[in-house]
Amino acid sequence: MTATILEHEAGQHPRIPAAGHHRDVNGGWLRPAVFGAMDGLVSNFALMTGVVGGAVSSSTVVLTGLAGLAAGACSMAAGEYTSVASQRELVQAEIEAERLELSRNPHGELAELAQVYVDRGVEPELAHEVARQLSADPDRTLEVHAREELGVDPNDLPSPWVAAGSSFVCFAVGALLPLLPYLLGATSLVPALLLSAAGLFACGAVVARVTARSWWFSGLRQLLLGGVAAGVTYLLGWLIGGQIG
Ligand SMILES: [Zn+2]
Repeated sequence: MTATILEHEAGQHPRIPAAGHHRDVNGGWLRPAVFGAMDGLVSNFALMTGVVGGAVSSSTVVLTGLAGLAAGACSMAAGEYTSVASQRELVQAEIEAERLELSRNPHGELAELAQVYVDRGVEPELAHEVARQLSADPDRTLEVHAREELGVDPNDLPSPWVAAGSSFVCFAVGALLPLLPYLLGATSLVPALLLSAAGLFACGAVVARVTARSWWFSGLRQLLLGGVAAGVTYLLGWLIGGQIG
């Protein structure tokens, strides 16, 4: 009876996370999203303060900000796509190797799986029984091996397109923040500066939810780092702008 219920449950929820490979349940998507937005905010804010330092017109600042947003978001998306796709291809090749090994040498693979549990402290006899039962269904055997030996769920590999798309959006949202006042007609850097400062502090404070730091420390640290980046580019723009302007 219990076994039937368990089997039924397992069939209903085939994506049980493997021990030791939990996603960050306290916001697995939150961390990369905030870092992506922060990246966009810092780089575009710094880019824009750089050209403002060189004393250019508002329309040039807007154009620079838009170009910075597009270039950065595309670059982040391309980088993320390549990174996730190559990782996925590597994992798929390993899964194929495992599939081949399972059909060639099922007994050796059974012993290998049992050894995984022995290494974790299960008695050898019981470990072999667990391995035998987990290998009863040929469709699930590969999944079990992939989980135990590679630490991945072959049915739930990360998508490079999703990774690329979310990186693009997060970067663009962050990069839009310093640009927004200019798009709405501002002619000085002050509104963009205030909005960016608020955004930096907010991003830092949100990241504190994932780290163990207090929100105000994390917020202030982010504000300081973003401020330094913008200060450096402003100074460069001011120095060089005076020479070439
Ligand atoms: Zn194996």
